[in-house]
Amino acid sequence: MKKIKRLNSTRPALWFFCQQDTFWILDNEQLPKQQLDSLGLIFDPQAPKFLLGYHQSLPCILVDLQHQTIDLPQGQWRGLRDIMLSSDEILSALLGRAWQVANFVRTHQFCGQCGQRMMTIHWEVAAQCRSCGHRAYPRISPAVIMAVIKDGQILLAKNKRNKGEIYSVLAGFVEVGETLEQTVIREVKEETNITVKNVRYFGSQPWPFPHNIMVAYLADWDSGDIQIDPHELIAADWFERDNLPEIPGKHSIARQLIDHVLSD
Ligand SMILES: [Zn+2]
Repeated sequence: MKKIKRLNSTRPALWFFCQQDTFWILDNEQLPKQQLDSLGLIFDPQAPKFLLGYHQSLPCILVDLQHQTIDLPQGQWRGLRDIMLSSDEILSALLGRAWQVANFVRTHQFCGQCGQRMMTIHWEVAAQCRSCGHRAYPRISPAVIMAVIKDGQILLAKNKRNKGEIYSVLAGFVEVGETLEQTVIREVKEETNITVKNVRYFGSQPWPFPHNIMVAYLADWDSGDIQIDPHELIAADWFERDNLPEIPGKHSIARQLIDHVLSD
């Protein structure tokens, strides 16, 4: 990540204009991809600007408008979650990275150790204190998400935090000092009273709300009947392919886990 002092207005780039927690998305569901001159956008030139990297040889430039209110010549300001549910994986991944960089820079203006001003450094995504040298990196919080399997059925639960009738696989944050496999075993036990075995890796997905990585596992039921933790869940049950409740959308790793288990 490199901080940019002045934008080159004649060179095409892929633009990540961020206003509060929304991004400028065109009507064709794409990011603006042209010269700054031809965007037709008027904004404060003092807004922080960063080179995020390159995509298809184009520089990816984040312009963090923060709380500036800007009228768009076309398209609209869209929330990250909304875009990630409806757009392709590459766009979602790029926007997730842009959001986490913007969020990191906004929350690391000052040193957590001595309180002096921080500056972003150029050769990696980090901020460094001018005074004491303390260096901070974007926080990434690991969470596990797991499909528990019993006789071809999958354990799905309705979480208190989720709106609507969606049932999903269980998930939880990794605690300090824990392996990911230990988190899987602990979370399933705490939330449903079920003991699992054969915990095995499935895949992972960055989840920028605000800075998680979801690490997905498969696990087999070993013992216990479902007894939900009422602080976390509203309901939980075993489901088969032909009696599924409403489940998460196809962009989520939760859905990939469910599809994987029920396609066997
Ligand atoms: Zn410091």
